[in-house]
Amino acid sequence: MSSRSLAAATTLPATLPVPAAEAPAMPSAQQLRIAVLPGDGIGIEVMAEAVRVLRAVEAAGSGLRLELSELPAGAGEYQRRGDPLPAETLAACRASDAVLLGAMGWPEIRWPDGREIAPQLDLREQLDLYCGLRPIRLYHAADTPLKGCQAGDIDLLIVRENCEGLFSSRRARHPADAAEIRDELRITRRGSERLFRAAFRQARSRRRRVTLVDKANVLPSMVLFRAVFDEIAAEFPDVEAQRVYVDTAALQLVQRPQAFDVIVTENMFGDILSDLAAGLVGGLGLAPSADIGDDSAVFQPVHGTAPDIAGRGIANPLAMILSAAMLLEWVGGEPSQLAAARIRRAAQAVLQDPALRTPDRGGRLTTRQMGDAVLSRL
Ligand code: NAD
Repeated sequence: MSSRSLAAATTLPATLPVPAAEAPAMPSAQQLRIAVLPGDGIGIEVMAEAVRVLRAVEAAGSGLRLELSELPAGAGEYQRRGDPLPAETLAACRASDAVLLGAMGWPEIRWPDGREIAPQLDLREQLDLYCGLRPIRLYHAADTPLKGCQAGDIDLLIVRENCEGLFSSRRARHPADAAEIRDELRITRRGSERLFRAAFRQARSRRRRVTLVDKANVLPSMVLFRAVFDEIAAEFPDVEAQRVYVDTAALQLVQRPQAFDVIVTENMFGDILSDLAAGLVGGLGLAPSADIGDDSAVFQPVHGTAPDIAGRGIANPLAMILSAAMLLEWVGGEPSQLAAARIRRAAQAVLQDPALRTPDRGGRLTTRQMGDAVLSRL
């Protein structure tokens, strides 16, 4: 298990500018055990490119030694053997330094009660990965639908609560002929405190502004959420604290995303707003994420398995590759920091080149060609 604590993890510069200088030669060696869960659909395709990139930084002689263990999990695994998250896979994730996950789920593969198979959510809950970090950054003006926005203008971090909120009743069972079904929005003081501290620590390594996104004008659970936010904000007097209702936040994200630094919010609001925010900077193919707990961390693109393009070799692997860079930043240690910086520089160079685009960004590159483009710039 990694020695990193969440406190340290959340001060990491996941979205800081990439250092300009080349890495110094040969820092001391570092061994990392990474559980690799490709999952389903394009998860498998983009993971292949991330693994190639990781192997390339390892081979570059930076002192990093990677033990990558590929493990079964996903909707396909459920179809094959009846268990979407085998106990051995979960145990290997717990024993690893970090987990790299592609994407999981398939709309037609469901439990008998009709819910989708979602082992990626089970993993979050089992490992108590309460803090979802979703950096959103505009790398090229052509990627945004917003007029006049230039590269770097949008640079925000969504901190999503991952283990409670409106997802908390997702396992509830209901009769097939139910005439009414209620879902619960669960907010706890403990869950909120640890989430908000993580968000404020993140802001300290960024522009020192945290915006709480809630619905405290309507929902009692959100009144508690906001009260705890106010308490934790008082522990961070050097960070500006703002409060915005979720409907207004959606409006402001589109009208002036530049105003946001760190957004902290409930599980479902974070799920929705992070897709919206990804749409402002080029789509899901560019949106990496980290799910962090006190003992474990999973790194994965924000996107799903994309059944509409799966199997065609055209998925954008950059979100997956940037998630691998976040993993290396999180585990700490000089070799992994240098490797992460290397990956970020290469990905950033690719992102800024208008000739290097997969179809989701209006280009023609295949997944493999995009992987090659990153590899050639490492
Ligand atoms: P999705 O993210 O898979 O796809 C949404 C749209 O974005 C699609 O048009 C897709 O083609 C496009 N897209 C996504 N990633 C892309 C990439 N890397 N390159 C190019 N285009 C990309 O969302 P969905 O269609 O709502 O869900 C499909 C399945 O994935 C469902 O079973 C869902 O439950 C699952 N899902 C899993 C995760 C996860 O594993 N973390 C997240 C979201 C959805």
